[in-house]
Amino acid sequence: MSETGTAPTVPGRQPAPGHRAAVVGDLTDSEAEMTSALRRAAEESIAYLADIRERPVGATASYEDLAGRLAEALPDAGISASAVIDELIATTDGGIVASGSPRYFGFVIGGALPAAIAADWMTSAWDQNAGLSATGPAIAVVEAAAARWVLQALELPAEASVAIVSGCQMAHVTCLAAARHHVLAARGHDVEGLGLGGAPPIRVLASELSHVTLTRALRLLGIGENAIEVIPVDRALRMRADVLVDRLGSDDRPTIVCAQLGEINTGAMDPIDAIADATESAGAWLHVDGAFGLWARASRRHRHLAAGAERADSWATDAHKWLNVPYDCGFAVCAHPDDHRGAMAAGGAYLQRSSPDRGRDAIDLTPDFSRRARGVTAYAALRHLGREGLEALVDRCCEAAQRFAAGLAGLGGVQVLEPCVLNQVLVRFEDDEQTRRIIHALQVGGECWMSGTTWEGRAAMRISTVNWRTTAADVDRSIAAIATAVQQVAA
Ligand SMILES: *Cc1c(COP(=O)(O)O)cnc(C)c1O
Repeated sequence: MSETGTAPTVPGRQPAPGHRAAVVGDLTDSEAEMTSALRRAAEESIAYLADIRERPVGATASYEDLAGRLAEALPDAGISASAVIDELIATTDGGIVASGSPRYFGFVIGGALPAAIAADWMTSAWDQNAGLSATGPAIAVVEAAAARWVLQALELPAEASVAIVSGCQMAHVTCLAAARHHVLAARGHDVEGLGLGGAPPIRVLASELSHVTLTRALRLLGIGENAIEVIPVDRALRMRADVLVDRLGSDDRPTIVCAQLGEINTGAMDPIDAIADATESAGAWLHVDGAFGLWARASRRHRHLAAGAERADSWATDAHKWLNVPYDCGFAVCAHPDDHRGAMAAGGAYLQRSSPDRGRDAIDLTPDFSRRARGVTAYAALRHLGREGLEALVDRCCEAAQRFAAGLAGLGGVQVLEPCVLNQVLVRFEDDEQTRRIIHALQVGGECWMSGTTWEGRAAMRISTVNWRTTAADVDRSIAAIATAVQQVAA
């Protein structure tokens, strides 16, 4: 297409004349163009969000359709900034999943609070390199506040160190690097200097229902997934602390125990108090995967499910799930700042560093070097909600899950598989085939969106409620859509 000199076309939209006028280097046009591109993006975003309650929840265009619109090679000629936005809107039409819809219940995907979205726009406009406080002192302060508030909201030790990372996956990597540092230093091994060669093997005790990101973190850290020894769960799907006690007593290798708050299918919460009793007496490191379940601690009604979590050595959690900030944002929290920094601190004599008692240099805490100021969205969400709003958000989502569980239990042909303890509901229909067909019917139907899973070897459907927009009416509408899908598929 570039040979003919026309900009790439997308269905329903032709490039307006003059769109080629502003090319890189055309500074006379660029200021007006900047304003118009940013306005266009803001208007489109506002229109998108204003309509989010009623637009079809799933994508309506297929991947093939979407790919067909963007198949050309990189054009020779550029186009103006606002033309890029126009084209992007047209090219993605029908392919955006309304994950912010109050009736999106797939995976564990939060919505995004308006305060956090707006703060995210500012984050891009400011474009600070948030690795050092020298490259953005205000951001270092805002991220420090977000970090402090998250510890307060989740009732974790005030002196813990907090890295603001891209999500729970990298939070695991960060926390487990600190754990690796700690357990090997205790055996006199300098893992940062020597690597794992010559180190005593580390063993990892984790529930059979651990999240896959834990395994990947162990792979990246050279501990290896085979280091995992699986601890079985009880009938309530909670790690069996009695088995853990036996295993800890049977071996004196350096040990990391990984407990979980919020299992992805069922929301099951491990008994952290009993687990912490065991790890404390055995001298093992306790890491908690609390991607979403750790947020139960923000609610007086649900806090008991995460009792004892403050006793852990490290915690990985997400902001882009229950805190409802846009992707991507998570927290790696460590009760031992020296181990955290020992594992993560970055060198580099050319770096202008803050004095140790002033300023927060994120590069010493995160796996990133240059980085987006992704903590600004978390700050905005926490400031917007306050303690009360956060508690209300958690409680409302849990109520929505309970309403689903109760409503679906009363429908013919639906089986609620596990008791609803938090914000996840797991259901199954007549058989595997019906379950898959109903999930598909819902996903293309547009009213709501749920994801599939395998539970105890059989197909199941998961419902996750972590969106600030979801109301009881949305739950009722979704139950009605499920009832219709059950009838359709049966017919
Ligand atoms: C979502 C999730 C993760 C991974 O989080 P990301 O933010 O996607 O990296 C890890 N553990 C649990 C329990 C989760 O729900």
